[in-house]
Amino acid sequence: KTIPSKGFAVLAADGKFKPFEFNRHALGDNEILIETLYASICHSDIHHVHGDWGKEEFPMVPGHEIAGRVSKVGKNVTKFKVGDYAGVGCMVNSCGKCDFCKAGLEQYCKDVVLTYHDKDQFHDNEVTQGGYSNNIVLTENFAIKLPANTDMKKVAPLLCAGITTYSPIHYAQVKKGDKVGVAGFGGLGHMAVQYAVKIGAEVTVFDITEEKRADAKRLGAVKYVNVNNPEDLKGLDNSLNFIISTIPASYDPNIYLKMLKIDGQMAFVGLPPYAKMPIIPIDKLIWQGNRKVFGSQIGGIKETQEMLDYSIANNIYPEVEIIPATSKAIEVAYQNVLDGKVKFRYVIDMKTLK
Ligand code: NDP
Ligand code: ZN
Repeated sequence: KTIPSKGFAVLAADGKFKPFEFNRHALGDNEILIETLYASICHSDIHHVHGDWGKEEFPMVPGHEIAGRVSKVGKNVTKFKVGDYAGVGCMVNSCGKCDFCKAGLEQYCKDVVLTYHDKDQFHDNEVTQGGYSNNIVLTENFAIKLPANTDMKKVAPLLCAGITTYSPIHYAQVKKGDKVGVAGFGGLGHMAVQYAVKIGAEVTVFDITEEKRADAKRLGAVKYVNVNNPEDLKGLDNSLNFIISTIPASYDPNIYLKMLKIDGQMAFVGLPPYAKMPIIPIDKLIWQGNRKVFGSQIGGIKETQEMLDYSIANNIYPEVEIIPATSKAIEVAYQNVLDGKVKFRYVIDMKTLK
């Protein structure tokens, strides 16, 4: 029978959160039920709620950075038992048969089921609802194992911010001594800095504020550039091996392309509103020394588990601010993210849900 769930939803395009009760599909034989402990706030949630990426459907329960505890398992489940800890990121299922799924890149499967705001074709087109809620049910294959002795409130952001930065850094084969740029020093950016520093790269951080200079240094960056300060930008052209952009707003990507060395690579993960999408003209690529550009979306399930184990083994965690599970607290947090006031990820303590 269906599983009752409650949390917070946006009911209309007004962006207001309201307490919300709904039902999730019944536990399948290969599925687990997770009681949510913590759910964090990704800027993608804010883009969705604000309709930055096209028309949205409501009610919408956002949240795709989830850490919780397994409370029920289907009869064929082998990966988890009741009482284990499990994480959920941006997706809950995929076809399992296409080239992307076979390559461990389920996020690019055309039938991928996203954690919220998607139709689950494997469950009668049920509309999925995310982590700002007290539970979630999904196939064990898409749940990430969390060791019991980890600090659960810091684990949730790894499931999206962690994997989205870990994946392209490793795909680009960033190595010790490389000069790496991290553009946008927020939830994703501060994870990118830590992964690159761990590899032994020399990291330069780019953001639009003076407030985060000391934080960049503290996390191991060698240089901090306030892009609004022209002095800061001097001498950077042709100097970086790899740049990752996590910027969520309109900006000129071409200033970063020029900073790459010959053969350097730039990964785009920040996804600004469609109406303000940054553009790289083809001529800029042709005139510019075999510099390479790629986009990257989260990471596959196998790599997400690898990232999680790696992060814990190397003591790499997000810096988090815990907020209570109330509509008001979530709305304030959203505004603070937009105003650049969060360091570095808001995590909703779902255990405080009334
Ligand atoms: P945050 O808001 O936490 O961080 C964004 C950072 O970028 C902030 O520090 C912000 O500055 C800074 N910034 C804004 N404008 C500029 C600019 N012009 N130049 C330099 N820095 C700038 O967001 P998240 O890290 O959570 O998400 C970032 C983006 O990544 C979003 O668009 C999100 O949707 C996307 N995303 C993509 C994924 C993927 O799979 N590709 C997965 C997850 C997220 P300030 O501190 O002043 O606000
Ligand atoms: Zn996210």
